[in-house]
Amino acid sequence: MFRKVLIANRGEIAVRVMRACRELDIRTVAIYSDADRDAGHVRYADEAYHVGPARPAESYLDAESIVEIAEQANVDAIHPGYGFLAENADFAERVETSPATWVGPASAVMRQLGGKTGARTVMEAADVPIVPGTVDPVTTADEIAAFGEEHGYPIAIKADAGGGGRGMSVVESEAEIEDALDRSIREGEAYFDDATVYLEKYLSDPKHVEVQILADGYGNVRHLGERDCSLQRRHQKVIEEAPAPGLSPEQREAIGAAARRGVADAGYENAGTVEFLVSGDEFYFMEVNTRIQVEHPVTELVTGIDVVKWQLRVAAGEEIDFAQEDVTTTGHAIEYRINAENPAEDFAPTTGVLERYDPPGGIGVRMDDAMREGDEIGGDYDSMIAKLIVHAGDREECLIRSERALREFDIKGVHTIIPFHRLMLTDQAFTEGRHTTDYLDEQVDPGRLEAAVERWGTASGDGGTGGNTSARTYTAEVNGKRFEVVLYGEEVEEEQPRQTKSPEPVADAPAGTAGERVTAEMQGTVLEVTVEPGDEVEPGDVVCVIEAMKMENDVITSAAGTVAEVTVGAGDSVETGDVLCVIE
Ligand code: ADP
Repeated sequence: MFRKVLIANRGEIAVRVMRACRELDIRTVAIYSDADRDAGHVRYADEAYHVGPARPAESYLDAESIVEIAEQANVDAIHPGYGFLAENADFAERVETSPATWVGPASAVMRQLGGKTGARTVMEAADVPIVPGTVDPVTTADEIAAFGEEHGYPIAIKADAGGGGRGMSVVESEAEIEDALDRSIREGEAYFDDATVYLEKYLSDPKHVEVQILADGYGNVRHLGERDCSLQRRHQKVIEEAPAPGLSPEQREAIGAAARRGVADAGYENAGTVEFLVSGDEFYFMEVNTRIQVEHPVTELVTGIDVVKWQLRVAAGEEIDFAQEDVTTTGHAIEYRINAENPAEDFAPTTGVLERYDPPGGIGVRMDDAMREGDEIGGDYDSMIAKLIVHAGDREECLIRSERALREFDIKGVHTIIPFHRLMLTDQAFTEGRHTTDYLDEQVDPGRLEAAVERWGTASGDGGTGGNTSARTYTAEVNGKRFEVVLYGEEVEEEQPRQTKSPEPVADAPAGTAGERVTAEMQGTVLEVTVEPGDEVEPGDVVCVIEAMKMENDVITSAAGTVAEVTVGAGDSVETGDVLCVIE
C-alpha cells in the first residue's frame, strides 16, 4: 500500500479522500491556493503545500506545479478527486511518467472514454444500447438538418468533451440549428478546449440512472448497483439516491450488466461511473465518468463498500476481494448537495462568513464537508459547500429521516439550498420518485421556491430572503417551562451604527436624510452600472450588475425615488455590504 498520497483537489472531496487515506494508514499531502490558506482540506492534511493564486488555472489546474510538489513531498501517488484535473488525460499521463502512481484509469483509457463519441463507439461495440445519434463528429448545419429529417426533433448538439450540460444545445426545429451549433462549438472550446460536437436524439422526460463500477488490474470488474440523479437544475445534479426508484428488477440487472460489459471491454481499471438515460422500458448509454463522483456516498451507504479506499487499493496493485454476487444493497440512501445559493433568486451563488455551522447528526446521517463555523465562503470555486447523505431502511423512512436532518441543519451567514431540499420533501412527484431530468426546471414554479426560502430560510438558519422586518428569538421561562419567543421588528436599529462607523464609501452621502442605500449582497466585480444621478427608479429596477462566482447578478432596488449618488463604477471590486448607490 502507498505510504504517502497527494490529493490534487480541495473542499469536501479532498477531505473525503484524506479520511480514506487515514484509515489505510497513508500520510496525506494537500495543495492550496491563496484563497485556501486556512481551508478545511489544509487543516486535515498531514502536510500542505502552497500551489498558486486563487485562480484555478494557476493553482488547482496547474499540472506542472502539482507534479513538482508531488516530487518535492516525495509522495507515491496522486488522487485527483473530481472536477479540476480529474478527467484530464494529459495530466494523468504526466503523472504516469513521474515517480508517482495515478489513482485512476490509465490515461489511454481515459482518452478513449473521456470523449463522448469515443465512449459511444466502445459501448456500441460491447453491445450496450447508446442514445440514438452519431458516433462521428458533425461540422455543418446541413448534416444536422439531414439527421433531423431522418430522426425527427428535438436533437441535442453536444460537445464531445462536454459535461454537466455544458456544451449541449437542444434544437426543436431546423431554423434553430445554426445558432445552436455555434453555441455548442463555442462552449466546447471555452470550457473543455475542444470544439468537436456530435448529435444525439434529445429524449423527452428521461430519468438519469448511473452505475458505479470498480475494476482492478486482474480483470475483475464489479458494479456496485445504480444511482438515480434525475433531480437536476439546468442539467446539474442536486439530489441523488440509491437504489433508483421505479426500476424493475430486470432493468436493474440489465443496466448493471451493460455497464460492466462496457468498461470491461475498454480495459478499465479503478472506480468509474457509467451514465444512462432511462426512457420507459428502454435505457441508453450516455457517458463514462472516469473518476470518483460527487454522489458516490449513496452507493457506499447502501452497499457498505468504501469506494475511495478501493480506488487507492486497486491503484496500489491490490485485487478486488469480493465477487459480483457478494455485492448486495441494504435500504435506501439520498444525498442532498448543500450549495451556497439562494433558491429564491434563481439559485444565485452567495458568499459570506459562516456565522453558524451546526450540521445534523444521529442515526443514518453522514456529512461530507470541509467546513467549520467562521470559515468564509468566497466566490473563487464552486458553490457546493457540503453534502448531507441520509440512509434508512427504505425510501419512505429515508425521506422522513431526511426531513429531520435538514431541519437540524443550522447554517447562518450565507443562503443555502436547504429550503429547496425541504420543499422537495413535500413535493409529490419527488416523494413518489416520479421526477425526471426536466422536472425542476420546467415544473417547479419559482413562486414555490420563494415561499420555501421564506418559510424555511430562518428555521434552517438560512437568514430568509430579507425584507423589512427581522425576527429575533428569545428564550423565556414561564412557570418553569421553557418557551422560544420570536419578536418581529423593523430592521434598522442594528444596521445604523455600523454604517455611521464606516467612513469611506458613504462619507458624502446625504447622511440623516431619508436616502436609501442600495448595497452589494455579495462580493464581486461591478460589470455595469445601469443608473446615474437624477434617474427615477421604482422598486425592482436594476441599478447595477455584479459578477460573482462566474455568474452575472442583477442588483435591484427595493426603494422608489431619485438616484442621489452612484458610488461605484464598472470594473470596481465590491465587498458584501458596500454601498452601490443612494436613492432619495
Ligand atoms: P454529464 O453527465 O457529464 O453531466 P451531459 O452534459 O451529457 O453529461 O448531460 C447532462 C444532463 O443533460 C443529463 O443528466 C440529462 O439530464 C441531460 N441530457 C444529456 N443528453 C441528453 C439527451 N440526449 N436527451 C435528454 N437529456 C439529455
